[in-house]
Amino acid sequence: PLPAAPAAVARPCSGAGADAEAMLRHLSLKLRASGPVTVAEYMREALTNPAQGYYTRRGGIGEGGDFITSPEISQVFGELIGIWYISEWMAMGKPNSFQLVELGPGRGTLTEDILRVFKQLTSVLSKCDISVHLVEVSPKLSEIQAQMLTGGKMQQNPKDKSAYMEGISKTGIPIFWYRDIQDVPPGYSFYLAHEFFDALPIHKFQRTEKGWREVLVDIDPEVPDQLRFVLSPSSTPATENFIQPGETRDHVEVCPEAGVIVQRLACRIEKDGGAALVADYGHDGTKTDTFRGFRNHKLHDVLSAPGTADLTADVDFNYLRKMTQERTMTLGPIKQREFLKNMGIDLRLQVLLQNSHDAATREQLLHSYDMLMNPEKMGDCFNFFALMPHHRLVHPDKKDKPESKSPLPPVAGFNELLLK
Ligand code: SAH
Repeated sequence: PLPAAPAAVARPCSGAGADAEAMLRHLSLKLRASGPVTVAEYMREALTNPAQGYYTRRGGIGEGGDFITSPEISQVFGELIGIWYISEWMAMGKPNSFQLVELGPGRGTLTEDILRVFKQLTSVLSKCDISVHLVEVSPKLSEIQAQMLTGGKMQQNPKDKSAYMEGISKTGIPIFWYRDIQDVPPGYSFYLAHEFFDALPIHKFQRTEKGWREVLVDIDPEVPDQLRFVLSPSSTPATENFIQPGETRDHVEVCPEAGVIVQRLACRIEKDGGAALVADYGHDGTKTDTFRGFRNHKLHDVLSAPGTADLTADVDFNYLRKMTQERTMTLGPIKQREFLKNMGIDLRLQVLLQNSHDAATREQLLHSYDMLMNPEKMGDCFNFFALMPHHRLVHPDKKDKPESKSPLPPVAGFNELLLK
């Protein structure tokens, strides 16, 4: 069915009023002038419009914001991801340098936790030249990231660089910021995208008696400044391109921008080596209407007060897999609780519990473990998915001389961690 239209225009909460009105005014003018827009265009405006977008202005990640993410819940999450990269770096023969490239780093917490692990394992990584590259469109969030990671040691618009900002992490590692993955210099890289792909604009399609139609956003002629969903009167270019022959669902969401980015990641990994770890809520090409909004940790009507709420849709891992065009192999999606269990979260929890001497800290550790692992909370709906070079699991010469080399270590997280 068509996503429900808003019952009433929500009153923006205090502080968000002026932003909401400016964004709505901007959208109504646009819709009146040139007609309905695709959901993707609406989502792009609402989230990343340079003046009024949600991430540009608000970006409310964390307990005091609109939604909470795993790295904000527990430091253990980022620590285990840091160990994943080290384990892969070792399995790939300890190359003498790598770039850690994070897409959509939010408040920078995940990178901070990963860099702490790198610091703790300096003895292992000592001969490796590491740099951090953050892809972030939001000026507000990039400032928060820079404060968190460099403590203010950064410089805007560095000369001779494709980055818009650079700095040095508190642990002495160079960090660069970009608006687009294409600006990140080539080189052996470990990529990370946590709750990034779900924030990219989706197109929505509805099966009708006359064939597939695209869902569009329009202004409601009956109620001033209220938005509503309508169906395209005929097939749109996106309908022609994105509905697969043999599609059995009645409603389909497609995120072409995610497809383009995965294609780029796959090309870069194929050419320069490395791996990508994607973690997000999603499905394997089976779900239908997953487009939703969050404000103040509550579900929020996607068409109400655009720019004041986070808008998101489940990631279609099946589509991402297709978009690698077999340039890399893919692993997963595997449920978050299985991935973290394989990475040794239980042992890490035990160590932290033993080292904490007050009841409140222990309570907090157990609570955050439950949030990450409980199948009813984040344990089942979040998934891990990886892109890696084909030779990571099969020796290039294996075909000719199957017994010639020792077997390659399994990929941690997707299998039990063997790093000791
Ligand atoms: N990874 C973080 C934040 C997730 S929120 C965490 O888990 O806590 C999504 C992040 O992606 C934000 O930092 C947002 O500003 C960024 N973002 C959204 N759209 C983007 C785009 N098109 N390009 C780059 N960054 C984007």
